Amino acid sequence: MRVGIIGAGFFGFHIARQLERRHPDIQVEMFEKESAPLVGAGTNNQCRLHMGFHYPRSGYTIYQSIMGFDRFVSEYGEFLTDVSDNLYAVHNEGLVSVDQYLAVMDSFHLPYETQPVSSDLFRNPDEIGLLVRVPEKSIDVRSIRQNLGSCLRGSVRVGTPIDEVDAENGLLRSGTTEFGPFDYIINASYTNPNLGLPPALHFGVKWELAVLVLARTSLANDAAVTLMDGEYVSVYPAYGGMHTLSSVRHTPMRRYDDAMDLAADYPNRFQLAQDEGRERAIADDVARHLRIEYDTEELWVTAKTKLSTDMGDSRVTEVRRHGRLLSVLCGKIDAVFEASDAILRELR
Ligand SMILES: Cc1cc2nc3c(=O)[nH]c(=O)nc-3n(C[C@H](O)[C@H](O)[C@H](O)COP(=O)(O)OP(=O)(O)OC[C@H]3O[C@@H](n4cnc5c(N)ncnc54)[C@H](O)[C@@H]3O)c2cc1C
Repeated sequence: MRVGIIGAGFFGFHIARQLERRHPDIQVEMFEKESAPLVGAGTNNQCRLHMGFHYPRSGYTIYQSIMGFDRFVSEYGEFLTDVSDNLYAVHNEGLVSVDQYLAVMDSFHLPYETQPVSSDLFRNPDEIGLLVRVPEKSIDVRSIRQNLGSCLRGSVRVGTPIDEVDAENGLLRSGTTEFGPFDYIINASYTNPNLGLPPALHFGVKWELAVLVLARTSLANDAAVTLMDGEYVSVYPAYGGMHTLSSVRHTPMRRYDDAMDLAADYPNRFQLAQDEGRERAIADDVARHLRIEYDTEELWVTAKTKLSTDMGDSRVTEVRRHGRLLSVLCGKIDAVFEASDAILRELR
């Protein structure tokens, strides 16, 4: 069986790995538009392996996180680090009350320990209604970038943007070059999920350019703080003793309803972030709430795709089929098994 995968991001590699394991005779070929694999949102993100604490407004997403967490740990444990002081703070003026937050977490039997709110960490301790320590982990995206490719039996063709899919005949086209025929094509491009799908099957999507600050901070390497639920901030361990700083208000830099507008801005994304002073805005927002010193190492600017139907905390995973094409869209890394299970079912 010959399978072509569009997009050599984390999802593309994960799906290739599951297919190669299940079908020993399979031949996987991946096509990546950038000059290197694993450079998109799958490896430039908040590095949070969710368990559900981030989603008090969606029971579905909590359930999805619980289901994904253990499978992720058993498959990708080598790329995970423990966060022994992983704190979630519930703001008194947030979108959920302390009672609601606790009721939801308790209903899913999520494990947490209540902590005292310290003025050493929080600038305004009175604004925090609840502080809990949780056992979520951090994904070492640098180690994923360095090592995941070595497990692949198939090939990755970089610098090859796929601009046309012939789902009936299993063909991919990049400019004037044609690849295939493939028995199956899997679209794991994240930002282009409608490539090759007929309009009736199109995902309703919108996009964001999102900015994170990767920094050395005064927080311990194995500590994290997430202030929620609403327009607040997060400081989460990434790798090498660094944290990502993010702000619900300033991390989303630009929003798009049209993929062409995103594609036009994407090559200039770092310049846009610099021109708009995003690093300062995110750091200032963090400093309004937390007593954390930081020293920026780099900015991460990536594209995020959202289903238009995703409201509040919902993060739905969907796989749509047309002829030999299977297109996947998913808003969270731990849900990668939900996507690959659906694809394996279709290929049976
Ligand atoms: C700022 C931010 C923070 C996030 N934080 C978290 C988090 O902490 N935890 C979590 O679970 N999730 C998080 N996410 C969500 C998560 O990153 C995504 O849900 C998902 O992992 C991305 O999938 P991917 O790895 O396939 O994407 P990508 O890494 O973007 O991979 C897709 C690849 O396809 C390529 N491509 C696109 N179009 C084409 C084409 N036409 N031809 C060829 N190649 C193409 C791209 O260049 C890219 O390499 C975050 C997302 C963002 C943006």
